[in-house]
Parts: sequence; C-alpha cells; structure tokens
Amino acid sequence: MSYQSINPYDGKAGKTFKEMSDSELQAAIATAASCFETWRHTSFAERTAVVAKAASIMHSRVDEFARPVTLEMGKLFEQARGEVVLSADIIDYYAKHAEHFLAPERLKPASGDAQVESSPIGVLFGVEPWNFPYYQLARFAAPNLMAGNVVMVKHAGCVPECALAFEQLWRDAGAPAGAYTNLFISYDQVNRVIDDPRIKGVALTGSVEAGKIVAGRAGVNLKKSTMELGGSDAFIVLDDADLEKTVKWAVWGKMNNTGQCCVAAKRFIVVDTLADRFLEQFKSALAALTPGDPMAAATTLGPLSTEAALVKLLDQVKRAIAHGATLVMGGSRVDRAGAFMQPTILSNIKPDNPAFREEFFGPVALYFTVKNEDEAVALANDSEFGLGGCVFTKDVARGKRVASRIDTGMMFVNHPTWTTPDLPFGGIKNSGYGRELSSMGIQEFVNKKLVRVASIDAAA
Ligand code: NAP
Repeated sequence: MSYQSINPYDGKAGKTFKEMSDSELQAAIATAASCFETWRHTSFAERTAVVAKAASIMHSRVDEFARPVTLEMGKLFEQARGEVVLSADIIDYYAKHAEHFLAPERLKPASGDAQVESSPIGVLFGVEPWNFPYYQLARFAAPNLMAGNVVMVKHAGCVPECALAFEQLWRDAGAPAGAYTNLFISYDQVNRVIDDPRIKGVALTGSVEAGKIVAGRAGVNLKKSTMELGGSDAFIVLDDADLEKTVKWAVWGKMNNTGQCCVAAKRFIVVDTLADRFLEQFKSALAALTPGDPMAAATTLGPLSTEAALVKLLDQVKRAIAHGATLVMGGSRVDRAGAFMQPTILSNIKPDNPAFREEFFGPVALYFTVKNEDEAVALANDSEFGLGGCVFTKDVARGKRVASRIDTGMMFVNHPTWTTPDLPFGGIKNSGYGRELSSMGIQEFVNKKLVRVASIDAAA
C-alpha cells in the first residue's frame, strides 16, 4: 500500500509519503490518549473556539483547500470548492449546536430524579475514503471533537495531500497535539490500532469489503463502530413526473463527482409511459458532457479517481454485457489521456446478471422500466444495499408514500439523495449502520450515562 498523489487527469505523479513506523504509530496513539485526558474536561466554549476557528479558516481559503482535491482525485474544481464549503459548514454546525445536542436529558421516573448525561469515550479511529476527501473527515472529526473525544484517521492512499491539509487545519485552529491525527499506515497497522485498548470506537466509510474487515475487527474487540458503506440507490420516475426537470436531476444525481458518490443515482427505474422520452433526453444530456481538465471551468466530465478505478469499472461493464445487458450508450474509456470513462447506460439487466446486485462506482447508469409504482418499489427494494434513493412525481403525498415503502436509510422526493449538515446520513443492510451528521451523528460515540437520584428511604 502506498500514500501517493497521482493526478488522474494526466497520470503525473506527485508526492509519495512514507508509512509510519510502528514506534511512530505508538507515539501518536500515546499523544492522542494523553490529549483526551485534558480535552475531555474542556468546556463547550473552549472546544467551540477551536472548532469554529477551523470552520472559518476553511471558509476563508476555499480555493487553496480545493486544489489538492482536484489534483489528487480529479473532482471538477467547482465541485471541489463546493465540498470545501460544505465541510466548513459541517464543522461550523457542530461548533454551534453540539452543546445543545449533548445537554443532559432529564427523565421523569415514577419517583425521585434521573437524567442521562452524554460524556466522551476516548480516542476514536476513522478509516475514510477518497471520494469526498474533506467532507468525510469533517463529518467524523467535528462532532466528535465537540463531544470531547479525540480522533485519529487513516485516509485513503490516493489523497495524502488532502489528508495532511485537513490535519494542518486543526493545528492552525489551535487544537492541542493529539486532538486530530492523520495516520499514514498499512492495513496491518489498521488492525493493530483497532486492537489497541486506548482506542474506544471505530468509524469507517468505504466499501462493503473494507467494512466487513474493519467492523469485524472492532467487533472482536467489543468496540462500538459505525459503518457508512456502498449503495445502489434507486432513482424512481413515476408516470406523473415533470420530465424535463427530472432529467436535469437525473444527470446531476448520476454525474456529480463523476458518479463516484455512495449516494449517486445508480439504478434508474422509470414507469413505462415515460420511459422512452426519459431515456432519449437522459442520453442526449449525458452525451453533451465535455471531458477535459478538471481545473478548467468549461469541463463537465472529469476523470475517475485513479486508473485502477477506471479499469475496474470498464471490467464490470464488460461483465454485465457478457451476462446479457444491453449497452445503450458509452461503455469505453474516452479516447484521450487520463482516467476518463464515457457516460454509460446499461439496460436489460436481469436478476441473474451480477450487475443487478453490484455497485457501479462511476458514470454508469443501470436503466430499468416498470409498469407501475408497485413494481418500482419492489425493484428498488430488491437490493442488498439500503443507503439512499429518490422518487420523482408531481404529487408530493404520493412521493412520500413511495418513499416510506423503500428500505433505505434516506429517501428524497424530487431531488437526488444529497447531504447537508443538519440531516442524518447513513444506511441499512449492506450499506452499513449508524448515522453521521445532524443531531444524530454526534450521539454515536458518547456514553449515555444514567444518573439516578432516589430516596434512601424508598422501598427496595
Ligand atoms: P475502500 O477501498 O473501502 O476504501 C475506503 C478506506 O478503507 C480507505 O482508507 C482504504 O485504504 C481503507 N481500506 C480498504 N480496505 C481496507 C482493509 N482491508 N483494511 C483496512 N483499511 C482498508 O473504498 P473506496 O473504493 O475508496 O471508496 C468507495 C466506496 O466507499 C464505495 O463503495 C462507496 O459507496 C463507499 N462510500 C460510502 C459512503 C457512505 O457514507 N455510505 C460515502 C462515500 C463512499 P486505502 O485507500 O489505503 O486502500
């Protein structure tokens, strides 16, 4: 494994970073553990001073933070800027609201007095993916630092400059040494960090495969974990949808971050009566995207994160076709340098095709037609994933009814699944467990401690 920047637009190698030695790792954990012993006793006001400062630094240096995102994983620069602002907003959100979210909750027992306090549990360990190289870190670090925990993070190997920029952010904001620690470590060291008794909780965002390994290791150690894993979100178009606006959102839902979102629209499920018109418009909108330098404002189709990601996706498409899928458009790499994939649509995907159950992490849309709403719901639920999903209809009450029948952690009506600081994020089934963001995300790694006061003369 390596920590290396390679620009997927032109294949140019940037810096490589050495993995930590075991003794450096031990020292880092010791620093974090000792930081926790003071950080846990700081007031909300003291934590807010640091966390709000981090948010304001990010807000004031958007382009500077956005650059390594584009250079390391190919996100269109404007979208990278959007991610920086969103990350800063998340950090700011917890600076403002954590104290309220974690205030002691008074209970009303039959007699006497009781309350539930929320106290920090210690050093937490996060394993994070490259697709949103700051947002993923922000949603783990900000709530937990505000809760009085400290965090250590193993980021993905292809975004080391982003990993370092985010660690530096906390230093610049005045966080004490050990409050936020970036770890350039091997998988083997990941296991040992999870085993370390000073680590009290584990969070992973990434693939199902990595989730099983990391959650398994946390489980053996009886450590609380949260898992934010893959998805194969349904984008349902009902017969009464506003076609033109729906197609616009279909393109956004599929192509944001070049399709490399856990909550990207992956399975398009369209009711027959609209299907042909939807497909025609969707195809021509995708065909109009312009590949190019992701730093350039005119570019609307960026590269995938790495050459390896492109090769994997091309293989998946090939296999889907070999098992009977129809290639409606695309299917190949773009004829130019860089890890560019043509926007692709596959149809005629039967349940025995491996593609029916897989996650396609990139600009590949799986297209299905159904007779009616009930069939759409049944197809959407025929998945091992359960992350997000959306339904388009002019009838909002109908949209909500359909949304409540879909087995996922998040459903949107008339918008692709997306994220803001104040809304919970997470899934069920193979998409993982636990929630990040909102008032819920900050509750995952705190001790919900009951303090009960009873009369000493009460009956036993
Ligand atoms: P990935 O391969 O699972 O990598 C995610 C992180 O896990 C990286 O830091 C990776 O390190 C590490 N990792 C992988 N295998 C590991 C192992 N055996 N032991 C320890 N660490 C390990 O996922 P990805 O391909 O980068 O990201 C895409 C996946 O993440 C998709 O499935 C996507 O849907 C999911 N995702 C989910 C959410 C959500 O909130 N639900 C959000 C974003 C992405 P290296 O980079 O060093 O291999």
